[in-house]
Amino acid sequence: MRTKRTIENLGSLNRKALAKFEPFLQEVEAFLAPKNVRVEVISGLRSWAAQAALYAQGRTKPGRIVTKARPGSSWHNYGLAIDLGLFSEGVYLDERAPGRADALYKQIGTIAAKHGIEWAGNWKSFQETPHFQTTFGLTLAAARQRLQEVNFDIQKLL
Ligand SMILES: [Zn+2]
Repeated sequence: MRTKRTIENLGSLNRKALAKFEPFLQEVEAFLAPKNVRVEVISGLRSWAAQAALYAQGRTKPGRIVTKARPGSSWHNYGLAIDLGLFSEGVYLDERAPGRADALYKQIGTIAAKHGIEWAGNWKSFQETPHFQTTFGLTLAAARQRLQEVNFDIQKLL
C-alpha cells in the first residue's frame, strides 16, 4: 500500500517521467518487501520558490546544506526527479540507519539503471543517494528555456 504522500508526489510529476518511474518503483517495492523495508516517494515536483527556500538552508538560513541546486537548477523543478525514503517498522532508515539505507540505495541504483533512470548516488560530487531523475536528454539550460516558453506547465516540457 502506497501512502498519500507517495501518491501525491508521483502525481506531481511530468507524465512521461512518471511512465518511467512507475515500473522502476514497482520493482523497488518488490525488491524491498522481503527485507521488511517500505519505500516512499518523499519529494516530487518542487516549485522554483520552494527550491529557493531549500537552497537558502545552510547558507542564509539555519540548518545543514541539503542541495547544491539553485531554483531552476534541480530536475525537481521540472517534475523529472524524485527523492525516495526508506522505512522499516516506522524507522526512517535514511536518518536512523544510514549505512543500511546506503547499501539498499546502491542496489536500487542498479535497478534504476535498468530503467534508464539516473541515480545521484553515482555523482562524483555531492552524492544524494535518495535522488533519482530522468532528463530525456535535456540539458538544464534547454529545460529552463523550454519551461518558460510553455508558461511553467511541466506537462508541456517534453
Ligand atoms: Zn532530489
